Amino acid sequence: MLKVSRIQNHQSNTPKKVLPKTVQKDFAGNVPLMTGKTIRNLLSSGLQKAEGFMLYLMGVNPNTEPDDIEESKIEESEDEVFKNKLSTFKGVIEEIQALQSIWYLADWDNQTHAMPAKANEYRAWQMSILKQMIQKVLISDEMSSLLEYLTDEAVFNKLNDIDKAQVKDIHKQNQMYKKVSPEVIQELFETTTVAHSVWAQARDLNKFDLLVPYLEKIVSLKQQIAEMVGYKNSPYEVLLDFYEPGMTTQVLDKLFGELKKDLLPIIQTINKSPKKNDNSYLQRQLSPSAHIEIAKLVSEHVGFDLSRGRIGAAAQPFSNLIAPDDVVLATGTYKDLWNPIGTPIHEAGHGLYNLAIDRNLSKTTLYDCSSYGIHESQARLYEAIIGQGLPFWKSLYPKLQEKFPEYYKSISLEKFYEAINFVEPFNQVDEVTYNMHAILRYEIERDLIEGRIQVKNLPKIWDKKMKEYFGVVSPEDAHGVLQDGHWSSGDFGYFPSYALGTLYSIQFYNQAKKEIPDLEGEIAKGNMLPLKNWLGEKIHKYGKLQTPDEIIQRVTGKRIEHKQFIDYIKEKYGKLYAISNW
Ligand SMILES: [Zn+2]
Repeated sequence: MLKVSRIQNHQSNTPKKVLPKTVQKDFAGNVPLMTGKTIRNLLSSGLQKAEGFMLYLMGVNPNTEPDDIEESKIEESEDEVFKNKLSTFKGVIEEIQALQSIWYLADWDNQTHAMPAKANEYRAWQMSILKQMIQKVLISDEMSSLLEYLTDEAVFNKLNDIDKAQVKDIHKQNQMYKKVSPEVIQELFETTTVAHSVWAQARDLNKFDLLVPYLEKIVSLKQQIAEMVGYKNSPYEVLLDFYEPGMTTQVLDKLFGELKKDLLPIIQTINKSPKKNDNSYLQRQLSPSAHIEIAKLVSEHVGFDLSRGRIGAAAQPFSNLIAPDDVVLATGTYKDLWNPIGTPIHEAGHGLYNLAIDRNLSKTTLYDCSSYGIHESQARLYEAIIGQGLPFWKSLYPKLQEKFPEYYKSISLEKFYEAINFVEPFNQVDEVTYNMHAILRYEIERDLIEGRIQVKNLPKIWDKKMKEYFGVVSPEDAHGVLQDGHWSSGDFGYFPSYALGTLYSIQFYNQAKKEIPDLEGEIAKGNMLPLKNWLGEKIHKYGKLQTPDEIIQRVTGKRIEHKQFIDYIKEKYGKLYAISNW
């Protein structure tokens, strides 16, 4: 299974806890309209400028008396019109961002063990209403009119860089949501809400058949959305663009094709290596309280500031950006001694990104990541390159042994390092096979959305690819096609982010090594600050101001490539498995 965690995104319609069917029906039939009264009730308790926002939604300029409208229009100069429209636009963006950040707070509470289980239904309703409010504003006539004005070439050229990026971002969302029928979005929401719980049941019972009708429906709805939005080459690109803006199947097929060609022989060579490492030392379980203590230890060590963030426990690990000084991480519960360490390092990588986005963007929708691939690159950089690397543990391992002697004292640093880098097809944390798992899932979801394969045949297709890529077949569907909940949640297009993130991460790290004097020496001394500051300055602070392609080219001078990753794997695992001739 891919050790995956998801950054919660602001357009996902799927609350992670299950909503009973009765409530979904209520949703479908009784979604409150955006009347002034509804908005007043919903917003009056917390949001600044709520009054202005409500009036805006009703099409009234809150600063203008009705009798004055005609006169003021005549008297406004071109410059005043520009200033007023831009100011109105920014005001609405602030409201969207406020609603969004409250959604993240609700989601954090919902996903961590803090919220009582019986509060699920009401929470799902609240979160759905918040999403609908945001979407209504995005496609409102007023927003469309503002965007029509602001995207006019002469006007657009007068904007500063941040405003240009903001207008482009909102314009893209406005155009997309206007094309997709709200009924299809609602149907997708309802289907995925049920499907996610069916998936968990199907996995527990090892019965893929249970999930088939739901997955068929989800694939069909996703195909419909792609048709509504429109595409050049493949309907899959519509879904992909949501997670990795600007990426195409053509680029992915070439990149992943090359990666696969070079990686498969490496996996085979390691499998055949006479040196067999051992990870049996790690097959023990920590106490629940130790999970959180270790998460705090490693997160703080990499530089996650607990005065500006918090760490909780959840069924699935994740990270949310609630506010500039409220970045949240959640770790899960595991049955071994590495995942309780690797998972919070991964989430802290996301958290460091979230903490370092330029504060000046915090009331815009650019207060976000460039893409999921870039976000994953930060998590993978910390989890794999740093966290599964030797320099990092030279300073931290003695502290870990000292703090948790009952678990780690008897394992030497050398054995620990070998064990956390153990290569085998079903190992969740294995850097070597990780990308192949992501590629396998990408190939399947692309073919599903393009209509080239059918849901009912997935177990056979899955096994065939496992055999081809890893030489083994999952003993049962629960550990094969039913491993991940992404598809039942409707997250088609997400899997490439993991592989892209890994490729970006090694390119960023290689560049950091060139620019930071003795980077690995500093890491070995326990000084994580130079890396954190470099990433903050080069990547994090930009938020959503630049595309992934712009970032990788600006920082490294190159586009995304697979070669640096292959070189990294050969060097590191050549030593670990005593292989000098690949
Ligand atoms: Zn992640």
